[in-house]
Amino acid sequence: MIEVKQLKKSFDALEVLKEVSFDIQAGEVVAVIGPSGSGKSTMLRSLIHLEEVTGGTIRILGQGLVEEGRYASGKDIRTLTDRMGMVFQHFNLFPHLTVRANLELAPKTLKKDTAAGIRKRSMELLDKVGLLDKADVYPANLSGGQKQRVAIARALMMQPDILLFDEPTSALDPELTGEVLRVIKQLAQENMTMIIVTHEMGFAREVADRVFFMDKGEIAEAGTPEQLFGNPQRERTRMFLQREK
Ligand code: ADP
Ligand code: MG
Repeated sequence: MIEVKQLKKSFDALEVLKEVSFDIQAGEVVAVIGPSGSGKSTMLRSLIHLEEVTGGTIRILGQGLVEEGRYASGKDIRTLTDRMGMVFQHFNLFPHLTVRANLELAPKTLKKDTAAGIRKRSMELLDKVGLLDKADVYPANLSGGQKQRVAIARALMMQPDILLFDEPTSALDPELTGEVLRVIKQLAQENMTMIIVTHEMGFAREVADRVFFMDKGEIAEAGTPEQLFGNPQRERTRMFLQREK
């Protein structure tokens, strides 16, 4: 699904990603953990072309988004990034649109389906995330947990092959994280391919097939949750996990 080789990203003199490489298979759930500033968001944003990398290769579904630092054409980039959906820490809903209009905007703009087809799908997805009764409400009248469930439903509208989550519960009060994590867990059970940047170690352990520990712009350690949490090989992984307890 995703192939990343020697990915490099600098902001001016600051090297944020240093030769990051990994592969992700269809249906895999990967949790990315690591200290603040280690490059987790930049890595995720690079996959969906919200950041331009400085070097390296990203292939999505076998096709090059960027090959050894050279980007595909604008049209090909869009075709590939359309296969992915992203959910952000701060929801990024459109405040002037109802919940349903938030879901329907992108598919309508891109003429993904008939109006009736898009309507059917938006109602199905709101039902899936438990918010059918909120279809005509504006985001300001939702709790953080509800907003994030809307954001997940919105990402699913485009029928992505891959979902990327950047700390989806970090902006939520602790009592609201469970409802969001449950939706993500359900997607995992449906074999959605996902990369989830998270500080929720318990959740990562439970839902991930593999965990990447990022530190200082590198994947310092990768393994199954059992390996990484139960028997970390590197001192810096141990130190991080100790602090997160
Ligand atoms: P994380 O998500 O792990 O906290 P980030 O990927 O957000 O880390 O940031 C990695 C590093 O890149 C940090 O030092 C951050 O300050 C820097 N950085 C991120 N975005 C930018 C930007 N647009 N311009 C300059 N520096 C940035
Ligand atoms: Mg981040």
